[in-house]
Amino acid sequence: MTLVAVPIEVEDPGEVGTALEQAQRAKLGGADLVEFRIDVLVEHAEGVAAACRLVSDSPLPVLLTCRSEAEGGAWRGEETDRVSFLEAVGTAEIAPQFLDFEEAAWSRSANIRQKVRLVVDHPQQVRPERARLVLSKHDFDGRPADLTGRIASMAVDVDVVKVAWTARSLRDCLEAFEMPGLLGVPTVALCMGPFGLPSRVLAPKFGGFLTFAALDADSATAPGQPTLSQLMDLYRFRSIDTDTEVYGVAGWPVEHSKSPAFHNQAFAEQQRNAVYLPLPIAPDPTAFVATLEAWLAHPGLDLRGLSVTLPHKETLASFVIERGGVCDDATRLSGAANTLRVDASGQLHAFNTDVVAIEEALSERVDLKGQSALVLGAGGVARAATAALLRLGAQVRVMNRTAARAEALAASFEGPVEVVGEPGSVAAVVQCTSVGMSTGPDPKGCPVDPAMLPNNAVLLETVYEPAFTPIREAFSQAGGQSIGGLEMFRRQAAAQTRLWTGQEPGSAALAVLDDS
Ligand code: NAP
Repeated sequence: MTLVAVPIEVEDPGEVGTALEQAQRAKLGGADLVEFRIDVLVEHAEGVAAACRLVSDSPLPVLLTCRSEAEGGAWRGEETDRVSFLEAVGTAEIAPQFLDFEEAAWSRSANIRQKVRLVVDHPQQVRPERARLVLSKHDFDGRPADLTGRIASMAVDVDVVKVAWTARSLRDCLEAFEMPGLLGVPTVALCMGPFGLPSRVLAPKFGGFLTFAALDADSATAPGQPTLSQLMDLYRFRSIDTDTEVYGVAGWPVEHSKSPAFHNQAFAEQQRNAVYLPLPIAPDPTAFVATLEAWLAHPGLDLRGLSVTLPHKETLASFVIERGGVCDDATRLSGAANTLRVDASGQLHAFNTDVVAIEEALSERVDLKGQSALVLGAGGVARAATAALLRLGAQVRVMNRTAARAEALAASFEGPVEVVGEPGSVAAVVQCTSVGMSTGPDPKGCPVDPAMLPNNAVLLETVYEPAFTPIREAFSQAGGQSIGGLEMFRRQAAAQTRLWTGQEPGSAALAVLDDS
């Protein structure tokens, strides 16, 4: 079983009571141990007594760590002082279960190695259990040079090897996955930063000895650490094992995506052994292709599906075609895909559930066969809207700030698609610009004067933050029927669940994206 450790920083003896309360919260939240970070406490005159109390009164087993500034901590003293401190705490009657010591200091001096060994394993110590030595190495700048050779030499005569480095892309996680199986000693291999989350969450899939989780969002001790509740509740860490299927949302940015909340809940309700992660991939087709190829090729990863978002939807469609995969009609028509399914034989399938979602949402409200419909915008979502409207039998009018982009969109479709300068008489409007989006270029604006839209048309607003954009607000107040972007988002996500699992998402998953 992969242990979950919650780091708690203790700077002053006066903070011991609070730290023990936090340790109790970590226990209630499902953690297996606490890491007391005593980087600053070491300098305090009462530090040894305070650290001994932390160890003896902790409700959970303790990993004791004094992290140097060079490896991301706050300790900057003399090495002999740090070792003496650890000696005093480590040889007390109740010793910590684990003692962290950095490989950089360990490899520098035989004298220090001997002293640290005596701290954890003195022949004359009479204790129920000796402390176990965690030899650690951290690199905040990137992957340490000669990582493989380095960890092999770290694994000699220690209890646990820990290595953590800042990932340069998701591909670094693949190396972290391999390490626990390489060394023959319990190993913690974690990637830090925005690309590192898979190495933290999937540690049980690859036999990692432990992973770290912050008690609260603001108490993380390394970039990219999830919170304890995210790890336990969102990612269902305790149910991850070697057979867990991996899914995720690939795009840039993805950190605020609602998809992990929806899909992890859907998998939980279906009792499916699967996890869904945010997977940031830099906005460059080469990065997308290289990452996807590496992740698909990893034999133990079981990557079974992706939601793909801005800016990689078109690259996904071409990637699947080039690798002999199968694209659905909506992908072929729109030239972009937002869903990847990898079947058990490795065959790739691309789908466009944005098209399906727009089609479903409109067809429930209006029969567009033979009628005109307006698309506002000419970006990726406008392409999906155009494809959906053509499938519904509509004559499509496209209106965009940059007319040339609208012309290019129209030219790429076979069927009745024309570029227009004003809305005209239409039965449906699909708003596909980022105008009105709270974090977009013009949150208070409208892409077209709402008074120009016929109020007997149905307006589908694809922006979902806020639920009521200025154009939707004005259109609804004038008596028009409108559909919010969250409904489209929910429908495209539900279609992904059906494609991956063959089942409908449950009610709790749907409630995650409820805008009613
Ligand atoms: P995109 O490819 O970047 O296209 C953006 C579109 O907005 C372009 O047509 C652009 O016009 C237009 N635009 C941007 N700023 C403008 C301004 N100040 N005035 C007028 N037009 C402006 O983006 P996308 O992928 O199509 O996404 C568009 C929106 O769809 C996003 O904002 C997002 O909220 C929403 N969306 C919703 C869902 C869902 O499930 N509900 C899914 C994906 C996206 P130019 O061509 O002139 O630049």
